[in-house]
Amino acid sequence: MPVLGPLYSVCFARVRLRSHIKVKKLIGMCSSQRRRYSQEHLQKCYEDHRALWESKKLPENVNPRSVFACNELDLRDVSVYGFDYDYTLANYEPAVEHLIYELGKNVLVSKYRYPEEIKSLKYNREFAVRGLHYDIEHGLLMKLDQFQQIQQGSIYHGLTPVSQEQVLKTYGGRSLPLHYVEGHLRGDTKMAHLADLFSLPEMCLLSQVAQYFMDHNLQYHSVPLFNDVKAAIASIHPEMHRIVGRNISEYLIKDPDLVTFFQRLKENNKEIFIITNSPFYFVNAGLSYLLGEDWREFFDVVVASAKKPAFFTDSMRPFRELNEEIHTQTWGPVTQLEKGKIYLEGNLKRLQELKGWQGQEVLYFGDHPYSDLADVSLNHGWRTGAILWELDYEIQCLNSDDYKKMSGWLMILQSLIESSQDFEDEESRKMIEKWEEERDQLRKKTKELFNPHFGSVFRTHDNPTYFSRRLFRFADIYTSRLSNLNDYSINHTFYPRRGVLPHEYKSLFV
Ligand SMILES: [Mg+2]
Repeated sequence: MPVLGPLYSVCFARVRLRSHIKVKKLIGMCSSQRRRYSQEHLQKCYEDHRALWESKKLPENVNPRSVFACNELDLRDVSVYGFDYDYTLANYEPAVEHLIYELGKNVLVSKYRYPEEIKSLKYNREFAVRGLHYDIEHGLLMKLDQFQQIQQGSIYHGLTPVSQEQVLKTYGGRSLPLHYVEGHLRGDTKMAHLADLFSLPEMCLLSQVAQYFMDHNLQYHSVPLFNDVKAAIASIHPEMHRIVGRNISEYLIKDPDLVTFFQRLKENNKEIFIITNSPFYFVNAGLSYLLGEDWREFFDVVVASAKKPAFFTDSMRPFRELNEEIHTQTWGPVTQLEKGKIYLEGNLKRLQELKGWQGQEVLYFGDHPYSDLADVSLNHGWRTGAILWELDYEIQCLNSDDYKKMSGWLMILQSLIESSQDFEDEESRKMIEKWEEERDQLRKKTKELFNPHFGSVFRTHDNPTYFSRRLFRFADIYTSRLSNLNDYSINHTFYPRRGVLPHEYKSLFV
């Protein structure tokens, strides 16, 4: 069967190779005969699999403007749309990260008296990706998968890669206990999860300063270093807001389709609100640029300086109204939320009471899986959408011929190794070890296509990342930008892809 041969070999390789061993045992062949046969057979299998891979058509490109579903979502049920501001409505140029980095670095030197030479460090945007974890005590930056396993080759001390031996020595294994990773939930923070895009410059500065100390044989402790960098970066936000607010076009990326997105919502009588942690003057400058001077016409409720995630969890924070003339909050109680007015602080319980909005009818978009999406999704039944600007870049990588070819061969080769691994004679083992080395190289290369240090934000080789697991748990849908929804009807239903469980058929058509 010349056409079915290679395909048959992939689908049933495990069965066939095992059956050969079984047959030879049954007919009583000696071990030397079996070994010779196995080696030849393995080489033939490799060539067959290689031919299969070369004959396969590359998969079609993923549309970078798609909306992806983790959970079924019928937009007909949604009458209220809510939004975070930073990195949800507003996407920033990399210049913002450079600004945060420079301002934070200067504070570290001027206020915290770090060495003057630190001022000459330069921001490296390629160093880190969103979703990494930082072990505060050990000073290690790493990527974890959904089982809290450290991805091999994706753990750094400063800018220096940490070996597998060192990982084993530090943690006694390559997976971290959940209580260690999520200690912050019980007030015992051992690790920081860097889940928003503003944390990229912070991670870079932290790693570079640690490397500076190591290179200059300066004694330092990881915990105060982490605290100092964190405090320095946190302190520059007002300055950053002032600079960005004054030079909006330099820092914000204008999406011409965003106005259409809001016009469509209005035309379909949807209610719209915004809850942002940023100060109002900053949001006002940005939305005037993105949506026009009359941007407030789109929004039924505007809440600034909301202090999420406390906004969602702390019901003892009443709304306050902003007096725009004197740029300060009023003292009186807020008994209704009026269109055109600006509110500060507040809490979710009161928002729902005053507006009568309930659970399933609200769809809230944010870029941060925890502070934007977790509470509303888990505790209040809101539907949620994540805006992940990295998807543009990651899908571009997925769509490259290099990635398609390497990941395709990687899967086929892995299947061959899996089905051949029980040959135990020395010569066969050598051949299989060679395949395993090839597999390791393929894994390294496919990872490095996304980022040379940490690979993809969304996956390790075999598993979703820790970040992805949280994202899939808290977001019903995700996409790279809000205006991607313009390509779907206002009554569209998003269906999740039916996942294959490990014990189920690889494909329904096998
Ligand atoms: Mg945000």
